[in-house]
Amino acid sequence: MAYIEPAPLKDKENPFEAMMSRFHVAAQILGLEDEIYNVLKNPARQVIVSLPVTMDDGSIRVFEGYRVIHSTILGPSKGGIRFDPHVNLDEVKALAAWMTWKCAVVDIPYGGAKGGVTCNPREMSAGEIERLMRAYTQTMADVFGPDKDIPAPDMGTGPREMAWLMDQYSRYKGMTTHAVVTGKPLVMGGSLGRTEATGRGVMVSAMAAMEKLKINPYKATCAVQGFGNVGSWAARLLHERGLIVQAVSDLSGAYFNAQGIDIEKAIQYRDANKGSLEGFTGAEKISNDDLLTLPVDLLVPAATEDVITSSNVVSIKARLIVEGANGPTSSKADNVINEKGIMVVPDILANAGGVTVSYFEWVQNRLGYKWTADRVNRRSDRIMKDAFNNVYKTSQEYKVPMRIAAYMVAIDKVSKTYKYRGGY
Ligand code: GLU
Repeated sequence: MAYIEPAPLKDKENPFEAMMSRFHVAAQILGLEDEIYNVLKNPARQVIVSLPVTMDDGSIRVFEGYRVIHSTILGPSKGGIRFDPHVNLDEVKALAAWMTWKCAVVDIPYGGAKGGVTCNPREMSAGEIERLMRAYTQTMADVFGPDKDIPAPDMGTGPREMAWLMDQYSRYKGMTTHAVVTGKPLVMGGSLGRTEATGRGVMVSAMAAMEKLKINPYKATCAVQGFGNVGSWAARLLHERGLIVQAVSDLSGAYFNAQGIDIEKAIQYRDANKGSLEGFTGAEKISNDDLLTLPVDLLVPAATEDVITSSNVVSIKARLIVEGANGPTSSKADNVINEKGIMVVPDILANAGGVTVSYFEWVQNRLGYKWTADRVNRRSDRIMKDAFNNVYKTSQEYKVPMRIAAYMVAIDKVSKTYKYRGGY
């Protein structure tokens, strides 16, 4: 069957529609039966809760929290928790489905889920964030479980929040339960290599793609949008592999240096400057949109959804895009990218290194054992390379872009499993 262009969307892109439009194309090529299409289109469970939290000034604020379980066909559902002012149900639904596809692409035995709370952690004290995380965990305690649904960090949360989640859940159960959450601090059952895992997977997939495109990493330039955990680790590891990282960015703006940004210096600066690159010297300040349209070999969008859109895609000059973030390219931009012949290593493949090492953390917790960093890295690199080759092969075989090929690999695996398990 020939490749079918995704239908263009009318309004500004909603992440769930963006996900569905790719899902639709891949499902058609696979000839997916309507029955299974409908099963996979709808999240299995959506939980919305109100979380009253006492703020430092004594007032009580009510936050809205979500947990969407898209699928448990391949295993217990897995996915992070996002603390961000833009969190809404449609976003969490899309992110949950992306987790299903992501776990299937890298072939780990998990379904997909995502959680979120609409809040601005940048404006909250540590105490307020802790109370919010404990309230969220307590309220969702029946949803979570090491064999049911296993959360992890996402935008606005990290090991500290996962520690509170693990502790609160353990209190609720009356026993220490490490395997209920991944991305924990090392001292309490976290895995070596988890912090850098997503950025490392981005690097591994970028190297694999450059090999296919015959781009010499020692002569290649790159721009990384977003300097949080994923972006800064990807920048550091790509630089270690020989690439010149010409630009990085965060909420404060973008920073460009044709000779290459000193990534270690930028990381040190950010860490000493409340997590922001504001005022970083050794680079020229440019806009975020300028960064996206730089004439680099590799572009790594590692910030958030919907940054490569129909309005800027025509100006994109990179030969290769490796998506560190979830959903950074709108489905409307896909067609132009394909026409331009730019290779995209899609989010559900490129950023799957994080959930892969989460899986290793869960395995170690259940074994009551600890792996060395070397073992973690070797195994996750292998999984990422195999997944890349599998998706690449599918894209060549069906003559479809890598994104559609990744969805095809994932949907095929989940739908075959569904047929064995069956409905009611
Ligand atoms: N939040 C990360 C993601 O979007 C990690 C999820 C996990 O480790 O479960 O892939």
